[in-house]
Amino acid sequence: MIEQNGKTFASIDYGIIPFQENQEKYRKEHGDRMDIREEIASLKDELIALRRDFHMHPELGFQELRTSKIVGDYLENLGMDVTRGVGKTGVAGLLKGKEKGKTLMLRSDMDALPVQELNDVSYRSQNDGVMHACGHDGHIAMLLASAKILSRHKGELKGNIKFIFQPCEETMPGGAKAMIDDGVMENPHVDAAFGLHLASEIPIGKIGITEGAMMAAGDKFVIDIIGKGGHGAMPSLAVDPVFISSYVIQALQAIVSREVDSCDAIVVSIGMIEGGTAFNVIPGTVRLTGTVRTLNESLHREVPGKMERIIKGVCEAFRGQYKLDYQAGVPVLVNDAEKMKFVRLIAEQVVGKERVQDFPAGMGYDDMSYFTQAVPGAFYFIGSANKDKGTDYPHHNPRFDIDEDSLLIGTEMHVKLALGFLKD
Ligand SMILES: [Zn+2]
Ligand SMILES: [Zn+2]
Repeated sequence: MIEQNGKTFASIDYGIIPFQENQEKYRKEHGDRMDIREEIASLKDELIALRRDFHMHPELGFQELRTSKIVGDYLENLGMDVTRGVGKTGVAGLLKGKEKGKTLMLRSDMDALPVQELNDVSYRSQNDGVMHACGHDGHIAMLLASAKILSRHKGELKGNIKFIFQPCEETMPGGAKAMIDDGVMENPHVDAAFGLHLASEIPIGKIGITEGAMMAAGDKFVIDIIGKGGHGAMPSLAVDPVFISSYVIQALQAIVSREVDSCDAIVVSIGMIEGGTAFNVIPGTVRLTGTVRTLNESLHREVPGKMERIIKGVCEAFRGQYKLDYQAGVPVLVNDAEKMKFVRLIAEQVVGKERVQDFPAGMGYDDMSYFTQAVPGAFYFIGSANKDKGTDYPHHNPRFDIDEDSLLIGTEMHVKLALGFLKD
């Protein structure tokens, strides 16, 4: 905090946001909760320390033992009812307000990625081959800081807040589903869910908002093309699964180009082709592994049938057989209109109307969609890119990093959403 015109004022300029000269003007424009911003500013060192500690000790999905222990202990120290081991390594903390009312979920993910960090920073990953390359370290820190501040303000809450720290966001079907299967949406029943993701595509100081369908459904499929092995020089005596695969790969793109409405976004990608042992041997099988992404939930349900019909037709045409293992992954993440309106309102208070940016839907996925499928909810992006600090590498890149000022913005969003939602 600094002294300005004899008044204390949180010395946060949120990176590129020009410093607010006039506290009264700021109050008028951005709501009257300056106390919250100042409280968050006073936690800046802790926020960064937490984030860097998680960054140094990343853990892969469903292996977040150290992380979830720290999270559970932190929430317990705040006096919350803490449930550990929800959805394997997930943690849920319950903060009860002064009066009975709705229950709001605030969610963070906790897992890291199998990526070797290339950043040369003091808080570099200590676990070889594992890295927080998606910003989940920041998500945990922000939600813990929010828990601390909101527990100080529980007298203002009409209802409860469930702080959800979920494992394994990066691997399908992920930790959100595991936590729901373990009953995290009940006792007390969750009425609404908010979550955020740091975004290196968005400059620091901005908040990205998407109305409606925001992130894709993501599925995985494994296709075994089964032929009959033989000599490369005598293909007529064999059934060549390599040859058949080449047709299957092309024919599957008909799902995108000929099978769905041109205005519906869908992607079919094959990422792995496995088969064969020698240049002159026709193998017995070839395995194709890939993913399907779409922003349309009803289309999402139709894809496996279309895929099977196409594979079957191609394989029959060339005397082959097939086995399709279609693994439905996460559903489409659809933001509830009313909840998103509320997020926009709070975001405008936090960063200013001109820095709330409409962000296009994308084909990435996030299993937050299980929560927003279960209850009305909203998910949004906190900009963390700052070219000058080198934090504009894409997510999952070995040089990914965040502008840590974004932690203040995300925390303020969590806190003000909760205070606003549980006001009356
Ligand atoms: Zn990620
Ligand atoms: Zn992520």
